[in-house]
Amino acid sequence: MAADEVQEFFPSANLSLLSLSEIAGEKQASYIHSNQKVQKSTGDAEVLEPSDEKEKFPRIVPLNVGGIHFMTRLSTLTKYSDSMLAAMFSGRHHIDKDKDGNYFIDSNGRYFGYILEYLRHGTLAPKDVAEYVYKEAMYYGLYDLMEQLTTTPRVSKLLVSEAHRAQFPNYFEVKQRTIKTAVENATVLNKAGEVIIYAFRKEFVPKAPNFNTNHNCVADQAHINVGPWEALADEETFIRCLENDLVEDGFNVMRHEAKRRCKYYYGQNCQKCIYRIQIVFS
Ligand SMILES: [Zn+2]
Repeated sequence: MAADEVQEFFPSANLSLLSLSEIAGEKQASYIHSNQKVQKSTGDAEVLEPSDEKEKFPRIVPLNVGGIHFMTRLSTLTKYSDSMLAAMFSGRHHIDKDKDGNYFIDSNGRYFGYILEYLRHGTLAPKDVAEYVYKEAMYYGLYDLMEQLTTTPRVSKLLVSEAHRAQFPNYFEVKQRTIKTAVENATVLNKAGEVIIYAFRKEFVPKAPNFNTNHNCVADQAHINVGPWEALADEETFIRCLENDLVEDGFNVMRHEAKRRCKYYYGQNCQKCIYRIQIVFS
């Protein structure tokens, strides 16, 4: 979905928050435009189809959200008029029904229950599910709820971590490649996979004349190159971020040894450094 389309549907949308679900690979609702063109999106994102006739919803709406049934008032679903949920039940769009005639939403019913409690009574979800409800709130475009959840420990941690990762280029792709490389390199003997990363915040441009840029450089050993990036975070911070994420995902990471700097010298030192990450698969 293009940024301007998001803005059109959610004038108050915080795009940096929206990008969170995209990065995380979460499904994201998409919308049809006011000009009635269907916004086709990639993946399993839900596409709202325009309704030729204005859809007439009953005052009490039976819902099937991912297999869990709810009954609620239409006024509850449309309480926040700028939300995606209100748009869904505005009558401008068609919503499929299941075989029993319940309006079907292809999302997680467990978390929708908390969304509904918020719409009904303003009740916030328990702390231990706040991050999941936050993502659902994002899906339904419920920005008031998102705002309130951002001050819970789990959601604020999620947002800080996300902002931290966003400093580095192609972070999730680099992480996936790190894991795949480690798997490929894991030997039968000790089941440890080594990954050499050449990380550089700034491109090294030698100033010394006669500096041989084709020297036998440590950076040539790298499986993965990461850089350059604009943010202030240095290479060490990047490696720590990557390692911490891998550990949090459940990988057994041997903490990297001190970085290895290139030893080449001709008028000046080569500034390139490599980092070694080792994942043990046992
Ligand atoms: Zn070098």
